[in-house]
Amino acid sequence: MAKGKRKRRKTKKQREARARLVAIISIIVIIGCGWLILARPVNVDEFEYPEWISQQFIKKDGHSRTGLKTKKIRNIVVHYTSNPGSTAQNNRDYFNSSQSVVSSHFVVGLEGEVIQCLPLSEQSSASNRRNVDTISIEVCHPDSTGEFSIPSYNATVKLCVWLCQNFRLDAEDIIRHYDCEGADHKLCPKYYVEHPKSWEKFKGYVDERL
Ligand SMILES: [Zn+2]
Repeated sequence: MAKGKRKRRKTKKQREARARLVAIISIIVIIGCGWLILARPVNVDEFEYPEWISQQFIKKDGHSRTGLKTKKIRNIVVHYTSNPGSTAQNNRDYFNSSQSVVSSHFVVGLEGEVIQCLPLSEQSSASNRRNVDTISIEVCHPDSTGEFSIPSYNATVKLCVWLCQNFRLDAEDIIRHYDCEGADHKLCPKYYVEHPKSWEKFKGYVDERL
């Protein structure tokens, strides 16, 4: 009888030990899988593009579209078009013209429309020495203050959230052209350089949505 009880106790202990082992192995497998997913390089070909992004790639000309490949994306750079009242289509078409030697991956328009001008695997010609590891966004604005319209502002937040999620970046990884190496503190995007609190607020809105 006593022997039988000991046997049952032993079996209970064994069951508990097995359960602990299963729990530990499960945790290791979950952490391992998570690590593998996060360590996997970002592949832009796997991105799912939302319907609000209109892809209108510009032609390869060696200047606006150099065809050079980007390296690992470290930042998203926000610009303003410095051309009050111009539309996203105007700016995209200018990038595509023979006069242009500049470009950005995206242009956000006054009504919140979003045009993608370049594949995300290629460098834009927008952010000085940081073209190689950044994604650029030009934002249209209604007047010379450079402040974004509400639809443009909201669409830029939405676009930044989508980019951060896909490139596994944080809101703090969104920078102004002004902050770029080699930009010599260019006044771009003007309003958000002159109003640093508004810039912090912008990043705060992105952060809330991540
Ligand atoms: Zn700029």
